[in-house]
Amino acid sequence: MKRVVIVGGGYAGTLIAKELDAEADVVLVDPRDAFVNASSSMRAMVRAEWSAAPFFRYDTLLRRGRVVRDLAVSADPHGIMTARQGRLDADYLVLATGASHAYPARPRSIQTSVDDAIADLRDTGAELARSPRVLILGAGPVGLELAGEIRDAWPDKQITVVAPSTALLPGFLPEVRDELRRQLDALSIDLRLGATLVTDPPTDPGTAGVFTATTTNGDAITADIWFRSYGSNLQTGYLADGKLVTLTAGGAVPVDAHLSVPGHSHVFAVGDIADLPDAKMATHAQTQAATVVENIRAGLRGRPSHASYEPASAERIFLTLGPHHGVGQLPTPDGGATPAPLQTVIDRKGADLFTHRFGQRFDVRTR
Ligand SMILES: Cc1cc2nc3c(=O)[nH]c(=O)nc-3n(C[C@H](O)[C@H](O)[C@H](O)COP(=O)(O)OP(=O)(O)OC[C@H]3O[C@@H](n4cnc5c(N)ncnc54)[C@H](O)[C@@H]3O)c2cc1C
Repeated sequence: MKRVVIVGGGYAGTLIAKELDAEADVVLVDPRDAFVNASSSMRAMVRAEWSAAPFFRYDTLLRRGRVVRDLAVSADPHGIMTARQGRLDADYLVLATGASHAYPARPRSIQTSVDDAIADLRDTGAELARSPRVLILGAGPVGLELAGEIRDAWPDKQITVVAPSTALLPGFLPEVRDELRRQLDALSIDLRLGATLVTDPPTDPGTAGVFTATTTNGDAITADIWFRSYGSNLQTGYLADGKLVTLTAGGAVPVDAHLSVPGHSHVFAVGDIADLPDAKMATHAQTQAATVVENIRAGLRGRPSHASYEPASAERIFLTLGPHHGVGQLPTPDGGATPAPLQTVIDRKGADLFTHRFGQRFDVRTR
């Protein structure tokens, strides 16, 4: 049986591993003990009863294949080296190592166990609960979703969002952006755009302690806790030795139309690390994963692998502000986009933040 080694058990990697489990010797490599559904991280921190929701332990994902809890430290056309177990040869290799984000968007480290990650979220949630004034740095979807979750749980907290961008959701339809602004105003979320802090607050992020921070616009903001909700780093350091591929200047992995690494038709890169025009989103990572599955499956069955990936033609998003608010934009068949009704945003994301969907992937009950 051919061996398929998948590096990274995130949105793309777990989907590919599960799809190919029945017809290949699948080995999924990840230093974590569980898949993290980042979409529910913010609610998991804000609401103690949600603290375990983002995590799906790998041991229920595969029937035949295995999950190796280890960190890839190098890759070449024939396999990978891992930190603990050493060499792992592969007939097909899939690179799906995603990006890191500041806690609580993701657990504190790639090595954090599920139990510690849940404990961290509960501790931070307790710090937040006793902080009447919250400062969030970053007005992208992550920062705004955090603001919305906090507002839903605590109608009276003061919530201020500071970000250097001058517009919300640039590149999205004007009516979606206007509606987002309207909802944030209605939820009394105080947006200070076009500014950053002159210096970071003296306290650690997510730790209660009163401070006054000054913005580059000269505003003084007094708050009791703050969160960093911006920035991400592609997790491709294990490819930096160039034994498999030359990374782009931004650290991404070049791919051809079949999502293969150039020159290696049996090595694929997918998700956030792939050098594609798609936004860095789980929805695109999983669509890309389907192309990789098709191509590896064809190879396993002795057929040529021809499936090509078409990057998304229009921006799409569900941006939720707690379970009852949010905006959405969906693609239309003609290649354009249309606003999603609020009820669609709630039904497809806001209500359960995709928990049920991943419960199905991991064969666990979530309702
Ligand atoms: C708070 C938050 C909310 C989000 N909400 C949404 C949303 O609602 N909808 C949406 O479409 N997108 C959302 N995103 C974006 C989405 O999470 C990413 O686009 C998605 O995770 C990318 O999937 P991936 O499979 O490429 O990588 P990931 O899901 O990040 O998985 C990468 C995996 O690789 C592992 N790994 C890393 N390095 C190594 C190594 N050297 N060796 C072995 N394993 C390694 C990691 O441990 C991880 O498990 C959100 C992101 C954040 C931070």
